[in-house]
Amino acid sequence: MDLIERLRAGLPAEALLTDPDVTASYARDMANFCAAGRPAAVVLPRTVEQVQHVMRTATELRVPVVPQGARTGVSGAANAIDDCIVLSLVKMDRILEIDPVDRIAVVEPGVVNATLSRAVNEHGLYYPPDPSSWEMCTIGGNIGTAAGGLCCVKYGVTAEYVLGLEVVLADGRLITTGRRTAKGVAGYDLTRLFVGAEGTLGVVVRATLALKPEPPQQLALVAEFGSAAAAGDAVCRIMAGGHTPALLELMDRTSIQAVNAMAQMGLPETTEVLLLAAFDTPDPAADLAAVGALCQAAGATDVVPAETAAESELLLQARRMTFTALERIRPAMLIDDVCVPRSQLAAMLEGTAAIAAAHDLTIGVCAHAGDGNTHPLVCFDPADPDEERRARTAFDEIMSLGLTLGGTITGEHGVGILKKDWLARELGADSLELHRGIKQVFDPLGILNPGKVF
Ligand SMILES: Cc1cc2nc3c(=O)[nH]c(=O)nc-3n(C[C@H](O)[C@H](O)[C@H](O)COP(=O)(O)OP(=O)(O)OC[C@H]3O[C@@H](n4cnc5c(N)ncnc54)[C@H](O)[C@@H]3O)c2cc1C
Repeated sequence: MDLIERLRAGLPAEALLTDPDVTASYARDMANFCAAGRPAAVVLPRTVEQVQHVMRTATELRVPVVPQGARTGVSGAANAIDDCIVLSLVKMDRILEIDPVDRIAVVEPGVVNATLSRAVNEHGLYYPPDPSSWEMCTIGGNIGTAAGGLCCVKYGVTAEYVLGLEVVLADGRLITTGRRTAKGVAGYDLTRLFVGAEGTLGVVVRATLALKPEPPQQLALVAEFGSAAAAGDAVCRIMAGGHTPALLELMDRTSIQAVNAMAQMGLPETTEVLLLAAFDTPDPAADLAAVGALCQAAGATDVVPAETAAESELLLQARRMTFTALERIRPAMLIDDVCVPRSQLAAMLEGTAAIAAAHDLTIGVCAHAGDGNTHPLVCFDPADPDEERRARTAFDEIMSLGLTLGGTITGEHGVGILKKDWLARELGADSLELHRGIKQVFDPLGILNPGKVF
């Protein structure tokens, strides 16, 4: 029996797609420049048993499997490889439980982040991890990439909210990791191992997530700066001053102009750097006043507090649309994700500007400034081979700069295909060897998302 017949034997007809025109549309995520192959089939399971059937079949026939969420990833981690099974979890999208006493939600992997956020809000609860793509991306993908977001400076990233998982292993066995209790230390922390594994160790089919009580509505301010150094100094003053904003975001002038061009947001275009801070404390106005004063002490040319929650939300929307806006200014874009210690943020921004100038490129920068997590977006035209070469060189130099400053090549987007060549430089040979050993234990045949991460 061939692969398709074997898959069909355990799946409802609508769960198996084999038309090449249709399967091609599942070939890649949003990382434009990563290789993507042609899947042999796309499977859209609705049950754990169907996922197990796919993995058993893949193991028997030694066929690679690429788990996928909404394909909003930006590192090629969800890209198909030739003749693989794409296992798209988007139809497993039920919220199974929301428990206000245990403060947990139990969900299937295809639940969209914003859908979960809104559902738990109705119970007075809060699921903090909020990637800018939250209206599209799935919880399974968030777990696969250990996604961050805007509010992580106060509330932490996805890893801090995943208490337990159900995972289908490469050979089709189903395991349960972690807990639904407030505490628990039994055995190695396999749950954390799966978070950020980019689909290389198992297929997440259920997740138990920690929730927080819903905080008061947040209020934001914008501060304008004439230089990256001044903005970086403000971030240091805010953090050293003991403040923990619910978000602390940054946009440079290129990003501001791109957002204005796309959505007429009326952001100030003459400023070099905008800092956006928000508090969800009982008295956000007082916290914003204190942070505004620190921004001024660092040299802010203007500080404007939003007067209403609606105004604050508008500012956040402007920040969230930066990727999309910058994508419009040149035909292509390489998205970097270098995270440095906060104290090195200014050096990272200045170094990135110097790299852009040296290679005569447009590099817009937005950042989760409170985390030191910068997104330099290298814009270029792939029809111009010289410009593409310069863009790729600049992209690499930015990662090199990040490592020199004590940072990491990826704060939240993951390694995927895009940064595979860089992982060894950050981890070192011994650590990489351990990674390979762990992969061997979970996936001895190497069928789970091969060619990704390392
Ligand atoms: C406009 C825009 C803004 C973004 N902003 C942010 C941001 O602020 N913060 C951030 O962290 N990211 C951001 N991203 C990147 C992206 O949205 C995240 O990486 C997100 O977590 C991917 O989720 P997804 O459902 O699209 O997963 P996919 O892209 O489909 O998959 C991502 C990885 O997870 C694996 N995977 C998916 N589902 C499963 C599963 N059930 N079991 C095992 N592995 C699985 C895949 O194999 C792949 O390795 C942004 C992307 C865009 C386009």
